Amino acid sequence: MSDAPHQSPTGTQPRHERHGLYPKAESSADFQRHLAAVHARIAAACGRAGRDPATVRLLPVSKTMDEASLRQAYAAGLRWFGENKVQEAHEKWEAMADLTDLRWSVIGHLQTNKAKLVAQFANEFQALANLRAAAALDRRLQTEGRALDVFVQINTSGETSKYGLHPDEAAGFVRELPAFTSLRVRGLMTLAVFSSEAAHVRECFISLRNLRDRLRQTAPAGICVDELSMGMSGDFEIAIEEGSTVVRVGQAIFGARHLPDSHYWPTANASD
Ligand SMILES: *Cc1c(COP(=O)(O)O)cnc(C)c1O
Repeated sequence: MSDAPHQSPTGTQPRHERHGLYPKAESSADFQRHLAAVHARIAAACGRAGRDPATVRLLPVSKTMDEASLRQAYAAGLRWFGENKVQEAHEKWEAMADLTDLRWSVIGHLQTNKAKLVAQFANEFQALANLRAAAALDRRLQTEGRALDVFVQINTSGETSKYGLHPDEAAGFVRELPAFTSLRVRGLMTLAVFSSEAAHVRECFISLRNLRDRLRQTAPAGICVDELSMGMSGDFEIAIEEGSTVVRVGQAIFGARHLPDSHYWPTANASD
């Protein structure tokens, strides 16, 4: 993460140069200001794309941030938090059980042995990418008497470092999902390539949208793939221009993280 980039956060600057721009939110007033800035960026991107901003859901990503910070964010009006690691999310959920209207979205890779935890507390899981995880989640959800909204994660960048199904595997995978009655399939999720080239990032988003459009024709009854979860702090304008319905935004709301992204995406480039 670079410290003092001089560029403004336009859609064309490299992601790793933009990260350093985001100041840490230290009060609920800071959160309100950062949120207003993010909503303004969303509105501007929607304006360019001729879209209604109400069709884009903002999922605040709180990974690495401590409980005090999440409580300030809550005071500023946030009611959903996205977390990449199951254990970390579960601990925060337990610590903040007093905030009964908080909702949790797990957006990172799931090891099957953590399915039990996810089934206990999560309201949404955005990184479904194999049948073992689907089966484990479904079984645990049945035990809990709960259901879970899920997104199928697709690897649109071709990078071996990224989790997710190859686009060609998606149709076959989706055909199996009706068997898991506690999973409510909502759509697809992707992480774009780490590239300073906006055009390369955009290609990932276009490819997810095209895949969604094809899957709509072949998905089994009851399986809905309408939603597109794509776009993060550094690239969500491009994602919105290409049809994103959920943007997962951490640093632009909470401030720059101190851990490199490689901590969360195990083999992602450590310089990011
Ligand atoms: C951390 C993370 C994000 C948010 O990234 P920011 O740069 O903080 O906006 C989005 N999606 C996933 C899967 C993440 O792990």
